[in-house]
Amino acid sequence: MNGSAATIVVVEDDPQIRRFLRSGLSAQPFRIFEAESGADGLVEAATRKPDLLILDLGLPDADGVDVVLRLREWYTRPIIILSARSNEQEKIKALDAGADDYLTKPFGIGELLARIRVALRRSAREEGPAETQFAFGDVRVDLAARRVFRGAAEVHLTPNEYRLLTILIRHAGKVCTHRQLLTDVWGPGHVERGHYLRIYMGQLRHKLESDPTHPRYLRTEVGVGYRLLGDE
Ligand code: CA
Repeated sequence: MNGSAATIVVVEDDPQIRRFLRSGLSAQPFRIFEAESGADGLVEAATRKPDLLILDLGLPDADGVDVVLRLREWYTRPIIILSARSNEQEKIKALDAGADDYLTKPFGIGELLARIRVALRRSAREEGPAETQFAFGDVRVDLAARRVFRGAAEVHLTPNEYRLLTILIRHAGKVCTHRQLLTDVWGPGHVERGHYLRIYMGQLRHKLESDPTHPRYLRTEVGVGYRLLGDE
């Protein structure tokens, strides 16, 4: 982004929501381009090569999940999806297909702006050199040495706890679906074992959160997955 305005393509068929996005995003240093269908969205994305793409899942001409899959053949920047509450399964499929984040309609513009900032920051970081340290709250993770500290004290994590934590760190700020986490930690044969995740997330929170029952960093995305929030 190197200081210039970020380019954003909005793919949304509902004119009211497009207007809402346009007015909400106009106060920001963004250049906005709009498309009303999946087909137009793919053309607009290829033409503008945006820093970020906002995609409605309920499009007249295409399944939003297919649009994500098509985009991910070449497009590596963040995709934030918009979904109706009746579209929960589609939303999870879109995340599994490679979308970065989602908002459920109706949403506030402040929430969207926060998600955009996180996604742009994350994507800028990914283009830079790889980090060997990651910190949140009083926790510091030395990814090169595979050691975890809270303050000055080292925290012992089991191999699966550590693996789960590093996946969340790699995608920090972004929601990770249950399927993605189960596949990455336990393998593709374990996608139905959501209880593994609950147990291991509980253990991680116990070891890393000040108040494990109200986690500040290791957040639950109800019905979807988990997200590691950094310090803001
Ligand atoms: Ca729609």
